[in-house]
Amino acid sequence: MWTILILVSIAAVSAEPRGFQGEKVFRVTPQSYKDVEFIRTLANYAKTPFSKARTFHDSKDLEVEKILPRFYLCLDFWVPDTIDLVEPGKHVDFRAESQVAFDVQALLQQSKIPFEIMIDDLEEALVKQRDSNIRAVHSYEKYNDLDTINAWSANIAAQNPGLVSRSQIGSSYEGRPLYLLKVGKSGSNKKAIFIDCGFHAREWVSPAFCQWFVKDAVESYGVNSQVTNLLNNLDFYVLPVMNVDGYVYTWSSNRMWRKTRSVNKNSSCIGTDPNRNFNAGWCTVGASSRACDDTYCGASPESEIESKALANFIRSNLSSIKAYVTIHSYSQMLLFPYSYSYSLAKDHTELNNVAKGAVSALTALYGTKYTYGPGGTTIYLAAGGSDDWAYDTGVKYSFTFELRDTGRYGFTLPESQIKPTCEETLLAVKYIANHVLNNA
Ligand SMILES: [Zn+2]
Repeated sequence: MWTILILVSIAAVSAEPRGFQGEKVFRVTPQSYKDVEFIRTLANYAKTPFSKARTFHDSKDLEVEKILPRFYLCLDFWVPDTIDLVEPGKHVDFRAESQVAFDVQALLQQSKIPFEIMIDDLEEALVKQRDSNIRAVHSYEKYNDLDTINAWSANIAAQNPGLVSRSQIGSSYEGRPLYLLKVGKSGSNKKAIFIDCGFHAREWVSPAFCQWFVKDAVESYGVNSQVTNLLNNLDFYVLPVMNVDGYVYTWSSNRMWRKTRSVNKNSSCIGTDPNRNFNAGWCTVGASSRACDDTYCGASPESEIESKALANFIRSNLSSIKAYVTIHSYSQMLLFPYSYSYSLAKDHTELNNVAKGAVSALTALYGTKYTYGPGGTTIYLAAGGSDDWAYDTGVKYSFTFELRDTGRYGFTLPESQIKPTCEETLLAVKYIANHVLNNA
């Protein structure tokens, strides 16, 4: 009976986007392994199915049970991506659903672990995120849905035939086209740089950057000598949205969705983390083999049709592609291999110097502070990422950007920050492109 009621209520609400009223985002800084364990205990409730959570609760062997309500707790980890990566001394940002938000707050207060409430009401933050007031269907200074981005990419290619062309490198799980823009003046034996956005569905500022990048190219070609030189001598492949199904889902159903939308065998949970799905130390560290987790590595490397399409394209253009740049948010970091281990990449010194130069170019514009370094030591170990895969496949200049901010807004970064975010990031990408042009 309960099952039927739950199914009916899920069906009833699935027609419109899920709301986030009363949901909070906490930033907690565990001071010790005991504190980490405490957060883990909270998070374990999140992984406990409804029926088991009741049993768990009834067992009365945990202090937190006295306060936790009799339904399962949902914590959604924003930074790091999963509870498994939480360490003493490093802060953790997570979202607590409304039914548990006050309990979580009370438990944290009781625990004496330092914490702040970053977002007091997520729904309110999501409304405020759309602060541009721009009426146009497409704008570089607002968040555009997938249909709008696809219409934009068709249009910008049509308007700039000598500079931009659009092709399709595959289709998504749900059958949507994966469009790729090639930006550059035609020429022979050109080196190329591959840039992708929108791996993780909820990181909306990422696709905004890919659009901005192409806009800058078409507006600056023949006007700005640096851009003209780059486009005369390099091709840029730009994939504006890699995880198209997930992105659509964040607009239609659940703004906080991260993964792809593929069905998993033997699980009712949907989706794989596309940035754990590449063949680079696949599923060894910082990734989950549980289909319900947000860092699920998938059934096998490139199990996701979108990952496979991307990897196939890079493999078949390996002779020209000299750099791989993947855009994520948030944390303000510029990372390079490796993330699947602590070992230094064989080009570590050069990559580190390029990252240093790129970050200083970025910071020069608005003073935005970035950290940089190998993924494993700078952020945390995470296997199966596209940057490590590209590097091991032979693309030497492989970088991951984690754009603004550092957590004040997180995934709810307001539209009014799209312009400065893209402007500063563009300086870093151009720095990398110049280095590639002169050194690759
Ligand atoms: Zn991401």
